[in-house]
Amino acid sequence: MIERRAIPAVENLLQIPQSTELINEYGRTLVLDAIRSILAEMRAGATAGGGEPENAAILELARRRIQAWLQPTLLPVINATGVILHTNLGRAPLSKAAQQALFQAADAYCTLEFDLEKGTRGMRSSHAETLLTRLTGAEAALVVNNNAAAVLLVLTALASRKRVIISRTQLVEIGGGFRVPDVMSQSGAKLVEVGATNRVHLDDYNLALQEPAALVLRAHHSNFKIVGFTSEPPFAELAALAHAHGVLVMDDLGSGALVDTARFGVAHEPTVQESLQAGADVVCFSGDKLLGGPQAGIILGRRDLLQKIKKHPLGRALRADKLCLAALAATILHYLKNEAETQVPVLQMMAQTAEKLQERAQRWADDLGMGEVIAGTSTIGGGSLPEETLPTWLLALTVLQPNRFLARLRDQALPIIARIETEKVVFDPRTVSSEKEQFLLAGIRKALNGNK
Ligand SMILES: *Cc1c(COP(=O)(O)O)cnc(C)c1O
Repeated sequence: MIERRAIPAVENLLQIPQSTELINEYGRTLVLDAIRSILAEMRAGATAGGGEPENAAILELARRRIQAWLQPTLLPVINATGVILHTNLGRAPLSKAAQQALFQAADAYCTLEFDLEKGTRGMRSSHAETLLTRLTGAEAALVVNNNAAAVLLVLTALASRKRVIISRTQLVEIGGGFRVPDVMSQSGAKLVEVGATNRVHLDDYNLALQEPAALVLRAHHSNFKIVGFTSEPPFAELAALAHAHGVLVMDDLGSGALVDTARFGVAHEPTVQESLQAGADVVCFSGDKLLGGPQAGIILGRRDLLQKIKKHPLGRALRADKLCLAALAATILHYLKNEAETQVPVLQMMAQTAEKLQERAQRWADDLGMGEVIAGTSTIGGGSLPEETLPTWLLALTVLQPNRFLARLRDQALPIIARIETEKVVFDPRTVSSEKEQFLLAGIRKALNGNK
């Protein structure tokens, strides 16, 4: 333990030449913060080593501390887990075109709200929103920050202080504490639950519709599946019933598939277009789940309702920014041009064939000169298509301490996130783009050798 009076004062430390150097490099505020935090630890006896540290040594500690503070924390990683929409790893990677659009919008001024032809103020809605209506046939569209914001905004604008009918089969928690019933109460809507946990019938809705209501809400089950003795009425029948009572129908689709997921060999996820055709007055979904774009909440539906939603003060608070709109418009264009499956990474990954994946995993094993190629499964993740898996082939490495090996993989310059399956460390080619392969293999080699 250092004696209290041996701890130098900040003023004294600032007088030695090393602090001038540090201040020139990093600025006074950071240097003072670092010195103060080190001195505070010394006072608390927390600095290891004991003895009386030299002023120069303290400043060296300060330099290292500042460098640690300034390390970027939002880093690119290689996702070798096979979970396509890995929420912890940022969900959907963007297409090349979407990246470029995002960069261009960031790099210079842009026509966010400017009409080039007239030279006057233009509409923010003329970009992604116009494309979304063209693609889906919806009358109108609005893009907000994320789908949670979309649900909150629609309910607040259309159903505040009014009854909203929802089935008990759909009172889901999405994750991160986002619960449909909580969002509903936050919006001021009066939650009316119908049906049982496993089953709901048209009659249950009919009974609730005997009293005035603003909305019937269908929420996608998202991250869970009810199996066994279950039922929910077809959405078109529910919509017809609600409309017969003069009540609006909202569909929170969650993942927002724009193409039929059955073509990838997984369950058919209700598409946005199907929901609109079945009679939804408003639908909402995420931009960064199955759609494969940036984080966004997309609201589509009847023009008059969208007008009302857009005018609500919350609309301004939740609106999407130019970077999001740029990336989203570029993503939607892939769908309009019928090239989504080859250009949108999420769909590309889903579309990869087992043969191709086996070939890639085998190439990795050959390249490393070790490991085996075993059959496995990739998952969709992101609360989309729960329980649905895609057959894949994994590179499996047998190492002495799998968990320590995983940690070394994460410690690489381009961190690699892999997983353990039956005590082997496995890598799924499905979520590793071919551009990243060389980094993956170099990283694995270094991790095997125990260095960075
Ligand atoms: C994922 C999801 C949300 C939340 O969407 P975010 O874009 O993550 O805010 C809301 N509802 C459903 C049904 C979902 O699946």
